[in-house]
Amino acid sequence: MEFEKKRRLMVENQIVRRGVTDERVIQAMLKVPRHLFLEEAVWESAYGDFPLPIGEGQTISQPYMVAVMTEKLELDKDSCVLEIGTGSGYQTAILAEICGQVFTIERIAALEKRARKKLEELGYTNIAFKIGDGTLGWSGLAPYNGILITAGSPKVPELLFSQLKEGGRMVIPIGNSFSQILTVVRKKDGKKIEEPCFGCTFVPLIGREGWEDA
Ligand code: SAM
Repeated sequence: MEFEKKRRLMVENQIVRRGVTDERVIQAMLKVPRHLFLEEAVWESAYGDFPLPIGEGQTISQPYMVAVMTEKLELDKDSCVLEIGTGSGYQTAILAEICGQVFTIERIAALEKRARKKLEELGYTNIAFKIGDGTLGWSGLAPYNGILITAGSPKVPELLFSQLKEGGRMVIPIGNSFSQILTVVRKKDGKKIEEPCFGCTFVPLIGREGWEDA
């Protein structure tokens, strides 16, 4: 089956059927060629309903998880978003389709290099990349309309929360290193309003305000 058709089926069966309604997210998921962010050996599985390995012990998230996390950020063309955990760059591309500007931080240099190359090849010009500990944020460009953390954290990293705009939203898996609760954190009058959504499993967020490196 050709990839465009697989992508349409992925969106219909895994994303729309499970309740994602934001048209911007749906259009982005229909457009971005997920298989190109993976090794050719696994292209046939690229549109399956599961995460896949991307090397360095890390994973590309399940398509539904990418869609739902993006939807919960409530972004549009005027938004400036910070992503922690570039990984393969697939989620970064989805954000770049929807937002005016994306800033993304990855702690593993080899992944950052590969993701940056892929996203540049695909023609994205609204993404800024950084290698380092994303739990410290990217202060020079703050505050952000949205902050997306694509790794599991023991708590809301305070520095990251301080870089969120008033009225902005952070989406973050919070829990232990085996399972977490996907949580939306809104900033209202400078305070955190936390809305737990559902259980999930992410690789650990490693850094000063995350987990210690093993
Ligand atoms: N969104 C990615 C994608 O579409 O491929 C998947 C991200 S993967 C589940 C989580 C990523 O977070 C890994 O690449 C990992 O190296 C990275 N990571 C973990 N702790 C980090 C930190 N403190 N700062 C930046 N990246 C971090």
